[in-house]
Amino acid sequence: MSDKQDYDLIIIGAGSGGVRLARMSAAKGARVAVVESRYLGGTCVNVGCVPKKLFVYGAHAGEDIEDAGGYGWNVPGDQVTFDWTRLVANKNAEIERLNGIYARMLENAGVTVIQGTASLADANTVVVGDQTFTSKYITIATGSWPVVPDVPGKECVLTSNEMFYLPQLPKQAVIWGGGYIAVEFAGILAGLGVETTLLYRGELFLRGFDDDVREFTAAEMRKKGINLRFGVNIESIETDNAHYAVNLTDGSRLNTGLVMAATGRRALVDGLGLEELGVQLSASGHVVVDDCFQTAVPSITALGDVIGTPQLTPVALAQGMVLSRRLFGDGKGEMDYNSIPTAVFCQPNIGTVGLTEAEARETGHKLRIYRSEFKPMKHTLSGRDERSLMKLVVDDESDRVLGAHMVGPDAGEITQGIAVAIKAGATKAQFDSTIGIHPTSAEEFVTMREPVA
Ligand code: NDP
Repeated sequence: MSDKQDYDLIIIGAGSGGVRLARMSAAKGARVAVVESRYLGGTCVNVGCVPKKLFVYGAHAGEDIEDAGGYGWNVPGDQVTFDWTRLVANKNAEIERLNGIYARMLENAGVTVIQGTASLADANTVVVGDQTFTSKYITIATGSWPVVPDVPGKECVLTSNEMFYLPQLPKQAVIWGGGYIAVEFAGILAGLGVETTLLYRGELFLRGFDDDVREFTAAEMRKKGINLRFGVNIESIETDNAHYAVNLTDGSRLNTGLVMAATGRRALVDGLGLEELGVQLSASGHVVVDDCFQTAVPSITALGDVIGTPQLTPVALAQGMVLSRRLFGDGKGEMDYNSIPTAVFCQPNIGTVGLTEAEARETGHKLRIYRSEFKPMKHTLSGRDERSLMKLVVDDESDRVLGAHMVGPDAGEITQGIAVAIKAGATKAQFDSTIGIHPTSAEEFVTMREPVA
């Protein structure tokens, strides 16, 4: 490899995709540096998947304590208290531990970590503060950042970034949006005892998910006391910094202790100087790349949230592996964006893989739909009024299972295994011939016999 330049590869952004690309490329003998302005591990480790899941566990623990009553435990409600500061402190300690692991992983791989904010001086030169580094290749892996819609009072709105470090929990909260983050945080806050209202501009939240899943999740969330208000948006917010008055498009007004926007994330490309070099940005602001993560500038590639592919850590990790092979390996490998399994960690969880019923119908194929709704065994004794949903979308002619959808405890865990079957092209007959694991909820996926449509 050329040693005319300081590095073979400089990656801007030490998130999931950037770190994976760095390690894989260094292992192939490349001289690699990663520039990072914030924290090692990116959104996922610091203000995303990991702390979110810890908060979800925290919120769910409250339900577990309540459910224990039916199993013979005496849990006097007035003796159970919750300490938000302890949860945040413990979460912070875990994130610091993970930051350390990331630092050591990079160091052990021989990757140089450069702290600071990067910009590109030319197609092979990265500037960080008063330092300049040259590299044969440069990869943009800068990720994404929350967007708050432009309404009067938007300055007082929090995003997921701040929610992870909230000094204290309010009594009431308004969550703005109807995607992954909104639904997950509604579950977290409500589970921790906050009176929670979720506002969504459309008719039904979780656009893009299977309609049955959307309706079922809404019903379960309402049962848990979350106030879901659809078909309404925020017009303006007034605050004295302790209380918030939220004016809605239907003319009503909500008083609350906190407003959190979970209204999407934009590509983080500020100050990089990409367009000046000829790197194209799409109308949505994402870096435009081809199937090989190549931008319009031959030495510059990009991956992860910044290119607008599904904003999911495992997608960025897979992209990092493919790009490393392309730059420093056998040049083979490509991304397959079909049937990406995903979970929403609301309560109960959503797990989904493959086509929704609506997407499958658009293909014009005749379908068979299998659907089962039931009370999970745990809640026979707990007495909790929570139900689970499972659904299979099957192509009638080929018998292939096109999509699997679940709402219920551990849906994410269960869907990962189902995803392997779907990826392998499993038929409904193969699901049927698979012996169930009894007694589990998951066995329902192999015991649904009668189509409902
Ligand atoms: P999403 O794109 O999932 O959802 C954004 C929500 O905000 C939508 O409901 C959207 O409505 C609404 N919205 C957008 N603009 C406005 C506006 N101007 N006024 C009112 N509402 C608006 O974004 P998130 O921020 O929830 O999450 C970002 C991404 O992060 C996700 O797409 C996902 O890929 C990833 N993620 C994954 C998680 C996981 O794997 N468990 C967890 C958290 C995030 P509409 O539907 O009408 O467009």
